[in-house]
Amino acid sequence: MKIFNTLTRKKEEFKPLEEGKVRMYSCGPTVYNYFHIGNARPFIMFDLLRRYLEYRGYEVRFVQNFTDIDDKVIKKANEEGTTYDKIADKYIAEYFIDAKGLGIKEATVHPKATENIDEIIDIVKTLEDKGLAYAAEGDVYFRTKSFKDYGKLSHQPLEDLEAGARIDVREHKENPMDFALWKAAKPGEPSWESPWGQGRPGWHIECSAMARRYLGETIDIHSGGVDLCFPHHENEIAQSEGANGKPFANYWMHNAFLNVDNQKMSKSLGNFFTVRDAAAVYGYEAIRFFMISAHYRTPVNYSRESLEQAKASLARINASLANLAFLSDKGAEGEMTEKESASAAAFDGFKQRFCDAMDDDLNSADAVSVIFELVKEANTVSAEKDVTKAYCKAALEMLTELCGVLGIGQTESEEDSLDKEIDELIAQRQAARKAKNFAEADRIRDDLKARGIILEDTPQGVKWSRA
Ligand code: AMP
Ligand code: ZN
Repeated sequence: MKIFNTLTRKKEEFKPLEEGKVRMYSCGPTVYNYFHIGNARPFIMFDLLRRYLEYRGYEVRFVQNFTDIDDKVIKKANEEGTTYDKIADKYIAEYFIDAKGLGIKEATVHPKATENIDEIIDIVKTLEDKGLAYAAEGDVYFRTKSFKDYGKLSHQPLEDLEAGARIDVREHKENPMDFALWKAAKPGEPSWESPWGQGRPGWHIECSAMARRYLGETIDIHSGGVDLCFPHHENEIAQSEGANGKPFANYWMHNAFLNVDNQKMSKSLGNFFTVRDAAAVYGYEAIRFFMISAHYRTPVNYSRESLEQAKASLARINASLANLAFLSDKGAEGEMTEKESASAAAFDGFKQRFCDAMDDDLNSADAVSVIFELVKEANTVSAEKDVTKAYCKAALEMLTELCGVLGIGQTESEEDSLDKEIDELIAQRQAARKAKNFAEADRIRDDLKARGIILEDTPQGVKWSRA
């Protein structure tokens, strides 16, 4: 597999440190609100990467943190007259509800910053001992001038960065590019004991600490949105490599931004959407499908039209899955026809092209196109009146496998139980018809119609779909 590495600005062959194993860290949400559709992009795309690596046989250890202490969390707690940890716990629970809806698997570990204060203090102490950090008035700052590689991820020399930077009057920095590792406690704010007095960690240091604690000093892949490249990831590199004296991450991956109606999403423009709100309109699966339909390094535009389109495209895939499942049960017995055999023989070719696309820096846009070609092929062949179960099963298996890698096409459990109820009603209707109780049969059909379920009599039996 090839991965575009922000560090080298090249597509590189992916080689993990340890054969067959991948250590991967992705920056997670600051938990002071429901997460928005922009945040959903990295969460979905790096979940996709993880799923694909697992599909290719890697054992993936995936860490995604929760930033549970920072200015925004504290502000929200003050506004609501509660504590920072209550706010964090609430929005962590909400994160898992939306993530599950979006088909994002739980990470191997979801650590919280405040659970890692000891590890954080340990790194800051090491940096101070090495002369890479200095304490000032209870704050501790990273001394960027002493870290020779500063700027290597964002490809900007320190001098250029310094030119545009200012020091805030409340800070005690030697140089405008220095950044806080530890912040002295302010009255009324949560704080922890440290060698520099009561205080709390800066934002950047938490990821260096959690990556080291849960994955080790050098990891394979580090990822996040492109806005994190500078300064957040640049600072993570400085802290981790400064303290550990080893490369931090071998591959850096950054997703491009999601805009709304061709504008940057912001609360003041009134174009800010949480995943919770968007899911109420389009459904979670359509949001996931919208994201994976674009390559992660291409900017995407979120709009009503693009989401409606994603929903309709996804419905085509799901209809094909449902149709093949139906015919796997109701189709003709016996061996595949010649035409079916020829079609089934081509399935591996679809899979190969799907993998080729994903191997090319996770080109899920092309992988989705391959799925549509497979859907078209399977739909055409299975439209034959006496299509065999054997063919439909083979097509279903391949389509399910590839959709599974993308995390789509899985009927949710809630729908599953609904499906069973519908099947039962259809069976009751068939029984009523057999007994020539047409009034009852019609009543059941109308009942289902009122619930948006359309029945269709086909040569293989009754088929249903959602209107
Ligand atoms: P935050 O909670 O703001 O730290 O963001 C969590 C993740 O969402 C980070 O990886 C950000 O880079 C990413 N992110 C934030 N806004 C957007 C956006 N509009 N498009 C794509 N990614 C975003
Ligand atoms: Zn981070």
